[in-house]
Amino acid sequence: MRLLCALAIGSFALPLAAYATDPHSYAQPDQVRVTHLDLDLKIDFPHKQLDGVATLKLDWKDPKAQALVLDTRDLKIAKVEAVDGAGKASVLKYALAPADKQLGSKLTIQAPQHPAQVRIAYVTAPTASGLQWLAPAQTADKKAPFMFSQSESIHARSWVPLQDSPAIRFTYSAHVTAPKNVRVAMSALNDAKHALDGDFRFDQPHPIPSYLLAVAAGDIAVQETGPRSAVYAEPSVVGKAAKEFEDTEKLIAATEQLYGPYAWGRYDLLVLPPSFPFGGMENPNMTFATPTVLVGDKSLVSLVSHELAHSWSGNLVTSAAWRDIWLNEGFTTYVQGRITEAVYGKALADEEALLSARDLQKHIGEMPENSQKLAPEPHGVDADDTLSDVAYTKGSWFLRTLEQRFGRSTFDTYLKGYFAHFAFQSIDTEQMLEYLKANLFDKNPGKMDWAEVKAWVYEPGIPKNAPLPASPRFDAIDKERAGFLGGSLAADKLDAKGWNTQEWMYFLDGLPDAAPLDKLQQLDAAWHLTGTPNAEIGMRWYSHAIAAGDKAVWSAAAEHMTRIGRLYLTTPLYRAFVKTPEGLAYAEQVYAKARAGYHPMTQDAVQRIIDKAKHPAAKKPAK
Ligand SMILES: [Zn+2]
Repeated sequence: MRLLCALAIGSFALPLAAYATDPHSYAQPDQVRVTHLDLDLKIDFPHKQLDGVATLKLDWKDPKAQALVLDTRDLKIAKVEAVDGAGKASVLKYALAPADKQLGSKLTIQAPQHPAQVRIAYVTAPTASGLQWLAPAQTADKKAPFMFSQSESIHARSWVPLQDSPAIRFTYSAHVTAPKNVRVAMSALNDAKHALDGDFRFDQPHPIPSYLLAVAAGDIAVQETGPRSAVYAEPSVVGKAAKEFEDTEKLIAATEQLYGPYAWGRYDLLVLPPSFPFGGMENPNMTFATPTVLVGDKSLVSLVSHELAHSWSGNLVTSAAWRDIWLNEGFTTYVQGRITEAVYGKALADEEALLSARDLQKHIGEMPENSQKLAPEPHGVDADDTLSDVAYTKGSWFLRTLEQRFGRSTFDTYLKGYFAHFAFQSIDTEQMLEYLKANLFDKNPGKMDWAEVKAWVYEPGIPKNAPLPASPRFDAIDKERAGFLGGSLAADKLDAKGWNTQEWMYFLDGLPDAAPLDKLQQLDAAWHLTGTPNAEIGMRWYSHAIAAGDKAVWSAAAEHMTRIGRLYLTTPLYRAFVKTPEGLAYAEQVYAKARAGYHPMTQDAVQRIIDKAKHPAAKKPAK
């Protein structure tokens, strides 16, 4: 997944002692494991629900096991049956526990006979946390409704009853019905030429963890971008998206050069409506992506590099629990940088690494100490909260450090071997470290102290000797910015004509938190930042202008906040507004209008920002 910010989506303390393995799942994989999911779904747009039948193939591990325990959230269970080898069904007793706010409802199915398969008929809630249902007006083309899932981290359980833990991998097949003229896509092999006949079948032959289960449906067109890649998007967007992502085959080939063959067959991309709460989601075979990266100059294509990289780091080698998510995101961010370097050059890769490293340096001290660790103590950690800058930026920084100390060619060989060794497995930090010690450190003694590794992984903060890439272009921007702020360089004399997105991001990131209003107004007059179609620049620009009290930008900022539901690009503006009473009142007005178009996760995040601003002293209810 691509976030690019330290999110605090939730903050629930978990009663941990009850769970031996993954604290974010009720599953008991030591007793029984799901090995295959056969899914039958009917997409019901008018009721905003999926009518589902999930048939789970089971591998019973413990002869004494009495029950199959599954994760669910807000599902209405209609029927549970055992299915024997001959296909004969018999009803099973089950109990759905009261909902836990974070984990959902534990579904306990009595199955002392250890059936080979269990079949569950169910219906999802219109408010399912892992689904968004968009009315035609909320799409780009405004003709047909649209729906999509976002399962990571623990939201698959809101649309399929299953063992919702990254430690458990299963293959899946699906039959999905939808209204005619709607295309259905899933995280499986998709047929671009499939007739829009309302009847789709999918097969994912590789075992995947539940958070990679994905579905989307709507008025979706397809355009090929290479021999094994295509872009899926609404008809008015697909051409622009195919142009922006025309290098996809180059990116795949560059990654294969580095880390071995792409294991999944096709690599397709689905561009979602702007309410998609994340940058991208690495759903196997079909990355889901935000349209905010379609800026016309490919400057934000590193999103594709990132999601593609997950085909090796994450989808191939997965963290076994959310506490270890840096094994997915840190490795992926590192690989992303290598792909960007191979296809677009070292300068851009270094700029992106520097931007995120500087941002982490600035903010890591504000986080609780436990959250500053790559492998935090799991107690009290919310699954969504583990997806923070620490996992992405500190994780990739650690890998860049290893690369620097051991040399690129040694480290490349090591990493290729690591991906091959753990392919299609879910592992934890300690397994990764054991492999690292035996295969990199012991074979290449004297390059790096093991104590440094422990500091990177288990200590808060960033090690003092962490290496940073050099960027002459960023150094030049530092000088320009200092000249502008100091008064020796007028805004219209800034050498910004050729700046790419990253360079504007860097310039704006480096302005003081409380920049003088007159300086910002000069900047806007010279460079027309208000109204920019580039949301990365807009997010930074409006944040500064709102903080400086520039009311002239408010309506343009509101337009940005209403149009874009991506958390990383929208929540900073709410945070900037709520700092003053007048801004808070305005933010509430904007939210009242924008809310219906937001994904449930974005609604939740914005509501928290507003609530916190209105009741700063409010304490969390005692548990
Ligand atoms: Zn990611």
